[in-house]
Amino acid sequence: MPELPEVETTRAGLAPHCEGRTIRNVILRRPDLRWPIPKEIKKILPDQAIVKVRRRAKYLLLDTEPGSALLHLGMSGCLRVLPKASPVEKHDHVDIVLDNDTVIRFTDPRRFGCLLWQPAGETHSLLQHLGPEPLSGHFDGDLLFALSRGRRTPVKHFLMDQSIVVGVGNIYAAESLFKAGISPMREAGSVSRARYAALADAVKSILGYAIERGGTTLRDFLNADGAPGYFEQELYVYGREGEPCKVCGKPVQDLRMGNRASAWCRKCQK
Ligand SMILES: [Zn+2]
Repeated sequence: MPELPEVETTRAGLAPHCEGRTIRNVILRRPDLRWPIPKEIKKILPDQAIVKVRRRAKYLLLDTEPGSALLHLGMSGCLRVLPKASPVEKHDHVDIVLDNDTVIRFTDPRRFGCLLWQPAGETHSLLQHLGPEPLSGHFDGDLLFALSRGRRTPVKHFLMDQSIVVGVGNIYAAESLFKAGISPMREAGSVSRARYAALADAVKSILGYAIERGGTTLRDFLNADGAPGYFEQELYVYGREGEPCKVCGKPVQDLRMGNRASAWCRKCQK
């Protein structure tokens, strides 16, 4: 599943090819993805210039004057800029044709992605109630500390709650909690201010690093689908259940939390 670093890498890859370009046409090869594609996409977008390509949480926004095309990659989606004549494959559902004979092509085999419309000056309901961006100045340990008081939910679930902070998926939550030395099962309300400061720093450094790495493979990313920003050999606990902890040597524990795997080290994380 594309996580925040892959979505940010996609944004950075699309922006120089799209910003300032005018949309000639929108080709919809089916009426819906996860949800029906609203009529505004075909009606309003043609002849509009793409002013900016933005990301909010794991959503991408193609901003035009009357509004924004709002895209989510879902479980398996990818967006590429291709020559207009590129052969259309089975799961290529949408082409946004640009004025230089390229297309922004949305491919999504499992169709959990979406293409929606956000009128200028409005915030789509999917974007309301989202917490701050993890790499912004609005996210820090003090925020986590303040929002967690009185909460008995496990700290890992708290960290993955999109209304607290966006874009911290399972892999980044597991790695950040390991780096900060916090057990994923600890009650959110029992973590100290100092430990939340360490956790927020870990989230920022791990996500920041993944985005940086994603950025270095930009060229491949536009041609292939879903090149991960993070490399397997750099993970400490995620996907390493049963293998020795890279810090203490004890086996990484396999924990089920809800329906998710949650790897952690019993010795390093308290
Ligand atoms: Zn350990």
